[in-house]
Amino acid sequence: MRFRDYFKDPAQQIISFELYPPKTAKGMLTLKEQVIPNLVKLGPSYITVTYGAGGSTQGMTLEIASTIRNQFDLESACHLTCVGASKADIEQIVRKISAEGIENIVALRGDTPKGQDRFTTHEDGFGHANELVSHIRSMEGIGEGTGLAVAGYPEKHQEAPSLDEDIENLKRKVDAGADVIITQLFYDNDTFYAYRDKVAAAGIDVPLVPGLMPIQSSHQIQRIASLCGAHLPDPLLEKLEDAGEDDKLATEIGTEQCIEQSNALLASGVTGIHYYVLNRSSQIHRVIRGIDRQNR
Ligand code: FAD
Repeated sequence: MRFRDYFKDPAQQIISFELYPPKTAKGMLTLKEQVIPNLVKLGPSYITVTYGAGGSTQGMTLEIASTIRNQFDLESACHLTCVGASKADIEQIVRKISAEGIENIVALRGDTPKGQDRFTTHEDGFGHANELVSHIRSMEGIGEGTGLAVAGYPEKHQEAPSLDEDIENLKRKVDAGADVIITQLFYDNDTFYAYRDKVAAAGIDVPLVPGLMPIQSSHQIQRIASLCGAHLPDPLLEKLEDAGEDDKLATEIGTEQCIEQSNALLASGVTGIHYYVLNRSSQIHRVIRGIDRQNR
């Protein structure tokens, strides 16, 4: 089933998860034997799998997404970026994804590789995600039928001069054929609500799915927030500062915060929530048990 089909029924609030390819063979085994089965039990609609910088995890991204699709009979999606890839490379990967029976792709430009100060477009590739979306859509026999998600940034993409310009660029991705927008993680729902209004005002009418990441430690959150620019509300920041190096306590705080944040979003009528689960299933179990999903 493709992204757009999940969001057809406004009475359903769709829950999805995101995994990343582990760095070691042991990590891969744990993912396949423990993490994925535990996540599947929570009944998500689909699980997406990230794509490492420069395509470094291409094979593993596909392997994990294929395991989810073909061994666990759950819909999955491969993330795909433009970094270092020619059009021919992209076409080859998209065909491989399709050959595994995977019907969905999260289409991204990708981050600027470490050591470079700005994104360099492959000479025969794509400079922005809208071009990637458009190209996949144009692929004969595959493009039309593939579910395509793109990224949205409630706190603005770090390279964009303004939120308005970033939303104009988001519209280019939707106009090129994206079915759904998944947002960057955020911790302040008011930021998301303001973004949702601006996105709607720009005439973008595909589902906007908030992305949430439950906090697991103070250190981790500071690093991630500084990487993607996510703002942490003061009360949350204070609690995490008090937790200091106590990761168990930070996880408790993060779990409660994520349940509260999810419930407020669900009550506000979001079409679903995408959770960045960071390859751990126990915390997300508690979050999903704690949320009040309305299948209105
Ligand atoms: P784009 O949409 O191309 O935007 C990049 C910048 O260019 C923005 O500032 C935008 O405003 C501007 N822009 C866009 N289009 C145009 C245009 N036509 N003309 C001029 N300016 C334009 N990264 C990975 O490496 N692997 C992953 O698996 C991955 N998964 C992600 C999943 C989600 C849900 C999200 C939110 C992000 C993910 N990322 C991933 C990070 C993402 O690759 C980076 O944020 C990247 O810097 C931008 O990607 P994009 O697809 O949003 O790019």
